[in-house]
Amino acid sequence: LASREAHPDASVVDVSGVKIGGGNVALIAGPCSVEEEDRMHRIAESVVSAGANIFRGGAFKPRTSPYAFQGLGEEGLRRLRDVGQAYGVPVVTEVTDPRLVELVAEYADMLQVGARNMQNFALLNEVGASKRPVLLKRGMSATVTDLLMCAEYILSKGNPNVVLCERGIKGFDPATRNVYDVAAVPLVHQLSHLPIIVDPSHATGKPDLIPPCAMAGLAAGADGVHVEVHDCPEVAKSDGPQALLPEQYDELASQMKSLAELL
Ligand code: PEP
Ligand code: MN
Repeated sequence: LASREAHPDASVVDVSGVKIGGGNVALIAGPCSVEEEDRMHRIAESVVSAGANIFRGGAFKPRTSPYAFQGLGEEGLRRLRDVGQAYGVPVVTEVTDPRLVELVAEYADMLQVGARNMQNFALLNEVGASKRPVLLKRGMSATVTDLLMCAEYILSKGNPNVVLCERGIKGFDPATRNVYDVAAVPLVHQLSHLPIIVDPSHATGKPDLIPPCAMAGLAAGADGVHVEVHDCPEVAKSDGPQALLPEQYDELASQMKSLAELL
């Protein structure tokens, strides 16, 4: 179902009116975690006015340590939905557990399956049974074929609205958080009709590297760019060190829009 052979035309996924794929570029931005209400409003106001068309934020956080901030749960979902509505954009948030799919789908326009859960088959089956579009992130040690097979789980359960995401894979060099595999973008387009976006925030972990890697992803044909933004990275509840400031995102968004027009 995911293969290009079976479906020669590029798929377009509609996220509450925002189209991704087939020449439609999504600019997804927001903080790693849903945080205080006034901060969420500040960040959303800035990224939407910069040109982001989907707002993100995690309410259920899959953290490496069980003692790290785990997210605000349902209160976070409510906050994210309300802020998205206030600025007129759909929202995407991660769902980490098959038992939470129904709850998250009540609040979010798009369900994110994170890298750590790419091969959580119970979760894939559950989001496959949902009506919400799915953002499926590549596992940190997953091949492109593995990623496409996980998309196949979702498609085979009856949900055709899957967007893939290249977010970097594990490498040996700690100089960047992950290894950004930009070649995965044209490769996925060869093998599959599904849209693929890039996430240079998690791929590089370094604010300075995010803009050039975002542009490289678009130049390689990505159907969107996902970037974490925070107005005060020093106090961010998660992933502060890789957050772009609102003014940095503003500059990047205008460059991305110019490039997308050229392509
Ligand atoms: C995230 O989007 O905040 C996240 C946890 O991403 P990933 O699953 O790619 O690590
Ligand atoms: Mn993050």
